Amino acid sequence: MEGPFVIVGGDAAGMSAASKAKRDDPDRDVVVFEKGEWVSYAACGLPYYVKGDVETLDDLVTVTPEAFVEERGIDLRTNHEVTAVDRADRTVTVAGPDGEFEQAYGDLLIATGAQAIVPPFDGIDLDGVFTLHNMNEAAQIRHYLGLDTPTVNLPESGYGEAATEYAAAEQPDAVAVIGGGYVGIEMAEAFAAHGLDVHLFEMLPHTLQPFGAEAAVVVEEHLREQGVELHLDTAVDGMVGDEHVEAIAAGDLTVPVDLALVGVGVAPNTELAEAAGIELGPTGAIATDEYGRTNDEHVYAAGDNAEMTHVVTGDPDHVPLALSANRAGRAIGATVAGDPTPVGEIAGTAAVKAFDLEVARTGLVDEETAREAGFDPVSVTITAESRAHYYPGGEEIQITLLGDREGERVLGASMVGREGVPKRIDTVATALHAGLTVQQLSYLDLSYAPPFSPVWDPVLTAAKVLDGKL
Ligand code: FAD
Repeated sequence: MEGPFVIVGGDAAGMSAASKAKRDDPDRDVVVFEKGEWVSYAACGLPYYVKGDVETLDDLVTVTPEAFVEERGIDLRTNHEVTAVDRADRTVTVAGPDGEFEQAYGDLLIATGAQAIVPPFDGIDLDGVFTLHNMNEAAQIRHYLGLDTPTVNLPESGYGEAATEYAAAEQPDAVAVIGGGYVGIEMAEAFAAHGLDVHLFEMLPHTLQPFGAEAAVVVEEHLREQGVELHLDTAVDGMVGDEHVEAIAAGDLTVPVDLALVGVGVAPNTELAEAAGIELGPTGAIATDEYGRTNDEHVYAAGDNAEMTHVVTGDPDHVPLALSANRAGRAIGATVAGDPTPVGEIAGTAAVKAFDLEVARTGLVDEETAREAGFDPVSVTITAESRAHYYPGGEEIQITLLGDREGERVLGASMVGREGVPKRIDTVATALHAGLTVQQLSYLDLSYAPPFSPVWDPVLTAAKVLDGKL
């Protein structure tokens, strides 16, 4: 008897695994424990919900809990937290609304995701200081902005109380976004859309660190044009205020604000796994093999809490993004259903909208990182038009492309422009997965018509220039 497939965590990785396993092996029990009330929700849409482009939190839910149970036959239990794993007995301990119990498993998937890092800032507990990693936080931020109540059954966890309090408070005028990563940039846009003065603090010299300095410089100019006050190279010390946040303190600087969004990154949720003797990898996330297995053959890990292999370096890496979580979960679902399926490799391909700009990256985007990974990198930065020069409405795209001098392989790229950027980063991501050389990339037969690109697509132009340099 193989025992049920038990999954801890009911979002991207967990529900993808549950759905695939149940579809491929309908006779096997699939049990999912989710400690919150939301399952299968798109956290990626939260900034756009705060902004108002997405109307309600419900819109962010891909499949409802009822559909998972009734249509897919999955034993999904929300409000159930797994508190321990006993690998010798193959059981998990679960704390639910009716108390604690044990659940046996044949295979276990730990898909507990990540959590927003909360730095030990002075005043971090003041009212009006938020992180943004789950649905409730997004709803609270909207309330704090004095916007409409979302039309959903919000979980109770302190929400009602906070909402009443916020409704009585004055609407904020100025906001500090602490951290210039992609969530910080998306939230700067969301706050600006509601007319707030936005101050963005970044302790490094540039925003969007994983996208490389070349792209960041263009983004920063654009953010300033949009009225965002940038405080680069500026480490925040803390928040000032009695009850509510009233200012941000950073060295000699004190900036009055009445709302603060802390977006300084995420940390993988590994406590449950660690306590059960599951090994972590060099990045601090859970170490897994090509099938998503941990050091215990019956325990898998996937999503924001797990490492995956980087397609360029071949090393374990931790890049907490949605597609890799969904994909790894799905592969593990197939594997436990009897069809061993690798979780695949990652290139760290990502895109972000920064007001009117599209920014994207894949692979290794700066020479220093490439050198550290053992390559002899050569890079070029070019600008080209997004459409044929005579066709109206074209915009400049800036591409930084990296190749390896020795193997002449493509190593990665970053791009920024006003249109057609994610499509083009995907071309380079494909080249990375295929292990193409820079010359092979420059010879690809890409689509062309005047409204979409010049005859030589900007990616081909960048590859030709880099090939010459190599
Ligand atoms: P999660 O989505 O974090 O789900 C883990 C689940 O496990 C949670 O529901 C949690 O409650 C539950 N859980 C944890 N511990 C336990 C326990 N002990 N017992 C029971 N349940 C437990 N990615 C992109 O690719 N593109 C984007 O544009 C993008 N934008 C984002 C914007 C924001 C604001 C945020 C927060 C994330 C964004 N992401 C984006 C990242 C993306 O949302 C994640 O990569 C993805 O959700 C990871 O899925 P997951 O299943 O691994 O983890």
